[in-house]
Amino acid sequence: MAQIDARLRAAMRPSAAALEPYDPHFTPVEVNLSANENTYGMPQAVHDKVVEALAAVATNRYPRAMSDDLRRAIADWHGVDPSQVIVGNGGDELLFNLFLAFGGSMGRLVEATPDFSVYRLYAELVETPVVSVPRDPVTFSPNVEALVEAARMATLVVVTSPNNPTGDLFPLDGVRALCEACPGVVLVDEAYAEFADPGTSAEPLLATCPNLAVLHTFSKAFSLAAGRVGYVLADPSVVGALSAVRQPYSVNSFSQAAALVAAKNREAFVPTIEAIRRDREPLRQRLAALPGVTAWPSQANFLCVRVPDAHRAWERLRDEHSILVRDFSSTPGLEGCLRITVGRPEENDRVVEALARILQA
Ligand code: PMP
Repeated sequence: MAQIDARLRAAMRPSAAALEPYDPHFTPVEVNLSANENTYGMPQAVHDKVVEALAAVATNRYPRAMSDDLRRAIADWHGVDPSQVIVGNGGDELLFNLFLAFGGSMGRLVEATPDFSVYRLYAELVETPVVSVPRDPVTFSPNVEALVEAARMATLVVVTSPNNPTGDLFPLDGVRALCEACPGVVLVDEAYAEFADPGTSAEPLLATCPNLAVLHTFSKAFSLAAGRVGYVLADPSVVGALSAVRQPYSVNSFSQAAALVAAKNREAFVPTIEAIRRDREPLRQRLAALPGVTAWPSQANFLCVRVPDAHRAWERLRDEHSILVRDFSSTPGLEGCLRITVGRPEENDRVVEALARILQA
């Protein structure tokens, strides 16, 4: 990362100057299992329709500010009113907007760490005090009781289900209790929900919890990480608050068009989602059988594994086997942990065989 010189740094907002830029540690490799993408890619027929839709975009016109067509399609899909949907430039933008609207020095974020590091990054950027309620160090289960207590003083609670990077679900009765306790907004980040068992989404609680928001993305199950499209389902007043702070044209017309095709053809993604769900537990068992490895069960398209000398193993996977996974070994609570995306069978085989070789040496 480029250094910021001292004079310029002195001119920056202190909360911005103190930040480390988010670094996904990307390196070109043959097998990339580092970012929880759907490595099968889009079904060809859907891809063809995306290309057709992109060609029809009027490039001289600004995008529809609120992604109207896409918003309506998402509302139909989830059985809600369009006023309960807001689309963003990736889930990341919507998370950022949540902090713009509900964070700040007078606000308070409650989260269950370890979780998605971007929450803390955005909290710090807008000077939001953070209450981190640690998960169980062995099982990674969230401490729901402590979260509910902390939520009483929070303007924003974020829980992740399935959680990144631990892969576990957040219990629905816990979500309900958080919504009752919290005077602000409770976000359930369901970026990976399509890979979880049916009946585990918090969405049905939207009908009774007006301060609940549920985040989804097209980046994972729907193979559209390149497009940067996410959306929040929530009460119209939460959508109103997020609309107030958003950049007017943040979701470009190409991305809106591509996501609309994906939404309308969502059934075509079921076979790869099912393949990933099917391969996940056998992959976990193969990894857990390697010497010194712990692999946690997962409801997402990735596995959290603890391996001996994890950072070195991560480097050797990259440098000797051209396989990129995510290194969490220096994250508090995740010492020794790597996160491995569940990919296509041949990719899964390669990572197991490579790790076996590294760990046996
Ligand atoms: N939430 C979680 C838990 C994630 O892991 C991610 C992607 N890494 C996102 C939200 C944001 O995804 P995107 O911005 O690609 O929609």
